[in-house]
Amino acid sequence: AKEGGRNALAYYDAAMADAVEGRTALEAELRLAFERREFEVHYQPIVEALSGRIVGAEALVRWRHPQRGLVAPDVFIPLCESTGLIRRLGALVFSSAAHQQVAWAQAGHVLRIAVNLSARQLRGAELLSDLAAALRASGADPRQLQLEITESMLLGQDNELLALFQSLQDLHLGLALDDFGTGYSNLAYLQRFPIDTLKIDKTFIQGLQNNRALAELIVSMARLMRLRVVAEGVETQEQLAWVRAQGIEFCQGYLFARPLPVADFGALLAAR
Ligand code: C2E
Ligand code: CA
Ligand code: CA
Ligand code: CA
Repeated sequence: AKEGGRNALAYYDAAMADAVEGRTALEAELRLAFERREFEVHYQPIVEALSGRIVGAEALVRWRHPQRGLVAPDVFIPLCESTGLIRRLGALVFSSAAHQQVAWAQAGHVLRIAVNLSARQLRGAELLSDLAAALRASGADPRQLQLEITESMLLGQDNELLALFQSLQDLHLGLALDDFGTGYSNLAYLQRFPIDTLKIDKTFIQGLQNNRALAELIVSMARLMRLRVVAEGVETQEQLAWVRAQGIEFCQGYLFARPLPVADFGALLAAR
């Protein structure tokens, strides 16, 4: 038993070393990915619930790794945050979205494009200058661009954050609260921030069959805030029927389209 224990420990150490090595390797590859231009921004349509008309899109980043294939953001965003690479990635995604907004507008499709921010980006002084630089370079109308943040990013950082949001407003950028309903902040608290859109988290839409009352509570909270509301993660006709019955104006989900590469999104726009 003693022998086995030692082996188990040795194995554990090896696994730990592998994990650390794997992480370091991934980090090195992540740095290279910028030079090799391996990041792609995909766009998922945001539609009017009643008409199905595409009115906007959410920009979602992917990493096209030469061996691993298309890597999901859940895998590399945390690593970007812990290494500080998130500033560079965030700037890249926002700049792509701004240029894409202009390209689609010139093709006759004026869409509002939302870009995710991570907590770490809110703390860097560079955010505002990165955003302003991308707006200038693209010539995009900032009113057609929106930043998505989550409730946890708002908690406990009042004054600094309010000043930052004031500056975002001065730039005329929109602000959406993502994953609404999953945080713990109360409405009075949320009301202090210049948010124009609430995105109801997909867990409520997907949990409708089991807990309709909870989903409807979240909707009534959203209604109290008197903001634009987007239902996320709409996958079925039943869910869409509920969204419409609730009077939710916009939705996003696989029922309409998955996040698409630019060319596919363009084809979808042209087909409508
Ligand atoms: P999120 O901001 O909540 O984005 C929505 C996620 O839900 C996306 O996953 C999207 O593909 C997925 N989704 C959309 N419709 C449906 C549906 O009908 N059913 C289901 N089950 N899922 C749906 P994705 O693209 O893997 O992104 C995951 C998360 O990674 C995002 O969650 C966001 O937090 C983060 N992320 C993505 N792109 C960026 C970025 O450019 N910057 C930052 N900071 N974070 C990003
Ligand atoms: Ca989002
Ligand atoms: Ca979300
Ligand atoms: Ca999220």
